[in-house]
Amino acid sequence: MSSETPDQLHFETRCVHGGVHKDQQYNSVTTPIYPTSTFYWNSLETHSGYDYTRSSNPTRKALEENIAALEGGAGCVATSTGMSAIHCAMALFSPGDHIIAPADLYGGTFRLFERFLKEKGLQFTFVDMTHIDRVAAAFQPHTKAVWIETPSNPLLKVIDIAAVTALARAHHATSICDNTFLSPYLQRPLEFGVDIVVHSTTKYINGHSDVVGGCVVSASADTAKRIAWICNALGLACSPFDAWLVLRGVKTLGCRMEAQQSSALRIARFLECHPLVERVYYPGLESHPQHALACQQQKGFGAMLAFDVRDGRPVAERVCMNSKLFDVAESLGGIESLISFPTTMSHASMTPEARAAAGITEKTVRISVGLEHPQDLINDLAQAFSS
Ligand SMILES: *Cc1c(COP(=O)(O)O)cnc(C)c1O
Repeated sequence: MSSETPDQLHFETRCVHGGVHKDQQYNSVTTPIYPTSTFYWNSLETHSGYDYTRSSNPTRKALEENIAALEGGAGCVATSTGMSAIHCAMALFSPGDHIIAPADLYGGTFRLFERFLKEKGLQFTFVDMTHIDRVAAAFQPHTKAVWIETPSNPLLKVIDIAAVTALARAHHATSICDNTFLSPYLQRPLEFGVDIVVHSTTKYINGHSDVVGGCVVSASADTAKRIAWICNALGLACSPFDAWLVLRGVKTLGCRMEAQQSSALRIARFLECHPLVERVYYPGLESHPQHALACQQQKGFGAMLAFDVRDGRPVAERVCMNSKLFDVAESLGGIESLISFPTTMSHASMTPEARAAAGITEKTVRISVGLEHPQDLINDLAQAFSS
């Protein structure tokens, strides 16, 4: 259970009630979907507060208020995908600006930075942010932002959010954290001084693998206003239908995360003892190099884990292809458990050298632990190893 100050509702309560304004007309308990592009005006000067759905929509507004309350932000915009949320935050910067980002960044973010924004004149330095001295050394006079993503994908490296944010602040740079892997239930970067949090709500916040979406949460009202302006100007917002699905998903975020991470720890311990497993990457294990830091800044260890198998690719392939409850698929954070092979799937766009530098090899297998009974998942992995 999360601990809260007495004047604040608990996290689980905010998941259920955040942003949900009861419908006054028919007394529906849930937020209605408002599938309308436009809203009529009461006079030539006044309207309901909504005029056009690209700018704002009541269903989307409910989701935005909910997530802002969960992250503890001053405002939120809900976008069409995680990538549009990231693009929205990056639109704060201009040609010539320099941005520091982690070397093992989410593949889609790396592509946006390295192959798109770089061409538009932004500059990037990618560093292993588990070494704070390397982050400190990467600052330049025109550094305008530091991008944080923790824990990383797929090897669950943990970055010290408070330390990186303090460096950013000292250099008058904006700090932005992709909090997709843990969700606000397990980690709230704004509490460590981060200026902006982004999510792929496709993952844990929605949690049911049935919609793609994203959001940008700002710590200050000024930033929130600027982000909302960008979101409207670039047309990045999500549809009322998608907002409604994510709002339905987020209501169970606390209990899903709790159950999924408790299963992940059991699976990690099972894998640690398995003779065909060389190494397990899970911040909840005492053997994880940043276990102490994870205990400090996270309220739990999440439901993503990776492991290296002995004997390389044939064993990795055997486990992936013979598991019956784990679908072989990209993505994560849903109630269905998924298994993947980063080399040919999520990290295929990296060069072999870049993968090797990041520590991703043909022995590496990644798991997103779902809501199935953990013993069934362990039994399934055991039979997959031995088949
Ligand atoms: C999936 C993901 C994204 C991109 O989100 P989409 O909804 O697929 O656009 C960004 N960051 C992280 C960490 C992700 O896992």
